Amino acid sequence: MRILLVEDEKRMSQALVEILRQEKYEVDACYDGASGLEAALSGIYDLMILDVMLPKINGFEIAKRVRKKSIRTPILMLTAKSELDDKVAGLDSGADDYLTKPFQIKELLARLRALSRRNINSSGGVLAFGDILLDVNSATLTCRTNRQSVRLSEKELHIMEYLIANQGQILTREQIAVKIWGYDSEAEYNNVEVYMTFTRKKLAFIEAETKIKAVRGIGYELRCFDV
Ligand code: CA
Repeated sequence: MRILLVEDEKRMSQALVEILRQEKYEVDACYDGASGLEAALSGIYDLMILDVMLPKINGFEIAKRVRKKSIRTPILMLTAKSELDDKVAGLDSGADDYLTKPFQIKELLARLRALSRRNINSSGGVLAFGDILLDVNSATLTCRTNRQSVRLSEKELHIMEYLIANQGQILTREQIAVKIWGYDSEAEYNNVEVYMTFTRKKLAFIEAETKIKAVRGIGYELRCFDV
């Protein structure tokens, strides 16, 4: 579970990072809205915590732009008490929940657990794209037209889930490496290529028109060629 924390008050940020790491979350911290937005758009996070008042770009704006890119990662907004009206703006912006400062750590952790459950639930059923169905619980990939199906390994399942969740977008091998393996390094890039080949073979095995297209020098994209 990888969390993006965008909070400009350094002491507050450091304290939160420490607590979240103790809770076994992986955390990346940004201290202004511009770097926060860039990180948020990478698509590698499972949860985002955004402060509202930030230098350069505020938290609502980050949430809006993230949703515009069809990134559905749960977002928790942190607002000051004086910004209570902003709650509405926060929910309108695409944030999933908000927490008013000052808050109890217990409360923050409870909200994060609830949001991460929502994230798991939303990807826990059957995902559809083009002529394929991906049953996440049984790790089965099925072609809708000929009903042929195949089991996926854990990594193949995560790759297919990630590609379907980001349909219409090209995912870079860096994004895929960080999302699936948690690291971004040469060794992981090789893993991405190896597992892309495995996953492609599974799609070919069920004779699906949906394929993983390699975009040279950029990354991978899921496409259905039956249209
Ligand atoms: Ca702030």
